[in-house]
Amino acid sequence: MTLSHDVLIVGGGGAGLRAAIAVAEDDPRLTVAIVSKVYPMRSHTVSAEGGAAAVIRPDDSLDEHAYDTISGGDWLCAQDAVEVFVKEAPEELLRLEHWGCPWSREPDGRVAVRPFGGMKRMRTWFAADKTGFHLLHTLFQTSLRYERIARYDEWYVTRLLVDDGRVAGVVAVELMSGRIEAITAKAVILCTGGCGQIYPFTTNAAIKTGDGMGLAYRAGAPLKDMEFVQYHPTGLPFTGILITEAARAEGGWLINKDGYRYLQDYDLGTPSPTPVLRSMELGPRDRLSQAFVQEVEKGRTVDTPYGPIVHLDLRHLGETVIDARLPFVRELCRSYENIDPVRELIPVRPVVHYMMGGVHTDIYGSTPLEGLFAAGEVACVSINGANRLGSNSLPELLVFGARAGRAAASFASGVQGAGTSVRPAVRAQVEDERRRLERDLLQRDGGKEPISAIREEMRATMEEGAGIYRSGSSLAKAADRLSVLQERFRSVRLEDRSRTFNTELLAALELSFMLDVAESIVHCALRREESRGAHQRVDFPARDDHRFLANSLVYRDADGSRRVEYPPVTITRWPPGERVYGR
Ligand SMILES: Cc1cc2nc3c(=O)[nH]c(=O)nc-3n(C[C@H](O)[C@H](O)[C@H](O)COP(=O)(O)OP(=O)(O)OC[C@H]3O[C@@H](n4cnc5c(N)ncnc54)[C@H](O)[C@@H]3O)c2cc1C
Repeated sequence: MTLSHDVLIVGGGGAGLRAAIAVAEDDPRLTVAIVSKVYPMRSHTVSAEGGAAAVIRPDDSLDEHAYDTISGGDWLCAQDAVEVFVKEAPEELLRLEHWGCPWSREPDGRVAVRPFGGMKRMRTWFAADKTGFHLLHTLFQTSLRYERIARYDEWYVTRLLVDDGRVAGVVAVELMSGRIEAITAKAVILCTGGCGQIYPFTTNAAIKTGDGMGLAYRAGAPLKDMEFVQYHPTGLPFTGILITEAARAEGGWLINKDGYRYLQDYDLGTPSPTPVLRSMELGPRDRLSQAFVQEVEKGRTVDTPYGPIVHLDLRHLGETVIDARLPFVRELCRSYENIDPVRELIPVRPVVHYMMGGVHTDIYGSTPLEGLFAAGEVACVSINGANRLGSNSLPELLVFGARAGRAAASFASGVQGAGTSVRPAVRAQVEDERRRLERDLLQRDGGKEPISAIREEMRATMEEGAGIYRSGSSLAKAADRLSVLQERFRSVRLEDRSRTFNTELLAALELSFMLDVAESIVHCALRREESRGAHQRVDFPARDDHRFLANSLVYRDADGSRRVEYPPVTITRWPPGERVYGR
């Protein structure tokens, strides 16, 4: 039996569910399925805390949201994509309300909004500090209304099938049984999320291993702007658990070991000429993370067993505000640090949070590989440029999840013939993949490299070589170390040969994707000889619009070699200028 659907979505997080609903609504004749390595409600979207940005107040405008996004992204954003994004974001958030999302309210009944880093106006909608949970729950329940949305929960996609230059489906492992199956489709939408697990300290769940980026890259689709990796300035030091930016939006301070609000000593971009909101703690994330490194260098941070830290001080907000607006922050601090932020300081450090880069798409979610679409954090439509503003990612996955769903539906309707007939070229790929998984990984004797050793070294390599600050020599060294790790991965050792929930096999497959994605980050970072947004080169400290007002597109060619191209950034109405942030 061949498993087959018109549109197949890889990923059951916010982007995947939104895309599935869009397909189901668009054309009732189409069959659609979601494959997800975890049960959809366990996707990382569930952990988003702070909120979702969209213009709603009369004193705000779409142009201002667009400008904040573009300037926050250090002029690397595709401006046509940003214009679509800011226009459709309010529509999507309202639609979510109609589907049941309990947005927090003002006493007069209006949707409540809070300030957020880099946004000059208050436009971040929230559901207390559990926005992602409510958003994902709303989408999941809405998806259940459509019987036509089939689900493969706890199936792991290992490869994209490509037939004559067009995507034909995927190969996936059912984790419970270990069976390896082809699932064919006329269109595939990747919604697999980000890849924070490539780094040692991250807010990202253990499942965020860049699988979708690896899948697309191996199939010949280019990855865009991979050198831009966002650090969030306030993670808990050991676990990397996020203390949401909402804590600073509500008035929290960052202080160094002398109790001093050190951000006043740093250039965080030009403060907004219209002093609408907020303090220096709401400067852009990249600048705040860079200021932390400089505090370390000045010896003004606190040493701990998990490296240097600074403190986030919420004490002056008082228990009532903390309990009403930041209950989850209090819960996390109590559970993971055994401290109460009402009375004590929270230890924090920058941790990897988000990938600006990803699979290259246009504003319809299409990639250059025919029939392949992408949306959400795995994709790079390019609304985030060189630095994403907090609370833009949830509306992004709604806007572009829906767009990719509609575009994939229309593509699939135009494809002739049943997707069930598997052509010989595709069958050969399926057999090839079965061999790789069964023989090369599961049944091979003599492997000597433990997965965890390679993984730890990869993470250390990325933090040292491609962290908050990079240089030509740190990146070149990282590139060399990664190619050695790739070589070592060839003799990786698997001890578990069972079929049922073989998590060791899963860890090996995830590591292999992470190594490919890590290499793409390092190579793009090495070639970009300038500093822009989250990409700070100590050897090229200035932004260089002359050479690099361009997105990077990295391809892996059939012979395994890498190629990077630099198409110019799409500029519509906002010529490059200085970065400005709300104050
Ligand atoms: C702690 C935290 C807090 C955040 N807070 C905010 C916030 O307040 N506001 C905001 O705008 N953004 C926030 N973000 C960012 C935002 O939440 C994410 O970028 C977004 O939720 C990603 O959604 P997604 O649908 O693209 O991917 P995810 O929700 O990560 O879902 C990925 C899906 O892909 C599936 N998958 C992956 N690989 C495979 C494979 N090989 N085979 C099968 N399935 C696969 C997974 O099972 C999962 O279902 C936060 C992020 C984190 C980590």
